[in-house]
Amino acid sequence: MEDSNQFKRTDINELGEFTLIDHLTFDAILKQPSTIKGIGDDAAVIDSGDHFTLVSTDMLVEGIHFDLAYTPLKHLGYKSVIVNLSDIYAMNGIPTQITVSIAISNRFSVEALEELYAGIHLACDLYNVDLVGGDTTSSQKGLIISITAIGEVEKTKVVYRSGANIGDIACVTGSLGGAYLGLQMLEREKQIYQEHPSVQPQLDEHEYLIGRLLKPEARKDAIAYFEENNVIPSSMIDVSDGLSSELFHLARQSGVGFIIDEDMVPIHIDTQKLAIDFGIDPITCALHSGEDYELLFTIKEKDLEAIRMMPDVAIIGEVVSGSEGLHLRTNSGNKHALSAQGWKHFER
Ligand code: ADP
Ligand code: MG
Repeated sequence: MEDSNQFKRTDINELGEFTLIDHLTFDAILKQPSTIKGIGDDAAVIDSGDHFTLVSTDMLVEGIHFDLAYTPLKHLGYKSVIVNLSDIYAMNGIPTQITVSIAISNRFSVEALEELYAGIHLACDLYNVDLVGGDTTSSQKGLIISITAIGEVEKTKVVYRSGANIGDIACVTGSLGGAYLGLQMLEREKQIYQEHPSVQPQLDEHEYLIGRLLKPEARKDAIAYFEENNVIPSSMIDVSDGLSSELFHLARQSGVGFIIDEDMVPIHIDTQKLAIDFGIDPITCALHSGEDYELLFTIKEKDLEAIRMMPDVAIIGEVVSGSEGLHLRTNSGNKHALSAQGWKHFER
């Protein structure tokens, strides 16, 4: 194999996560007629005859995605499954199986791994998913968990990132920004504990925010509601990297723009309060922080009434032409350009 890159060294930070993925995968030619959608959505889509199969993989790395100083292993196992199921729901599908691969060092006891798996099994039970395989290997120090989720969707009901049209309405489930503030809270308590080990952490009053980080749920209820009410979103993505980053993906892949109403972006009261305590504008948290695992989707105007009746959903804006770009409209009517700054793991 000829190595034309022999003398060149480009730092991965020069590209950023999404440009790097594009750079590495742009020449992945699809050879199989059954591959309906390859790289670029929340899950790959494969023709399985009478339905489509969905496949999605996510990896969680100790020190990057979680800190065992404040993450109970049972919660970690549960969350590792949830983040993968969320990508299947984001295609309007139903998850059916997972595989779980772990890299572990001898730092971990059998009992500790049993805890991790207690969380994995719990998520499988609650989401009606079977654990059907995986791999176990050693690591030098940290814990790495890689999960692949498999799901299915009726062929006529699959929803891509690329289907938003001008005039559609943008919606998001739940509320945003909470997981990030839960993380800030736990980081602050960890620092206090390291400096003053006798001080007991004050976490009770922040149960909601910490729960958003440590015990997220995937929005299977939203997919069930779409099914019951004959709604097929025109586009959808899960909010793992922050609302603005996900809007950017929908905009780019659908060739559209968005106007989002600042007042309509759902922010829980606890998120608002703690953001202010930390000196952060709550809307900044809601737009730019990750790990909420809500669903961002667009609907056609004809489905607006059905969505107005949907529990725990906010109508946040409208789809405009691509040339208009991405904007946040404040309640005084001013428009600010939105930038897509999601989680950037390489920079940590
Ligand atoms: P998500 O946030 O929904 O998990 P990602 O941003 O991780 O999605 O990935 C975007 C797309 O790029 C997905 O289709 C994913 O499968 C693909 N992808 C990510 N990393 C790689 C890689 N190293 N090689 C091939 N495809 C990748
Ligand atoms: Mg996703």
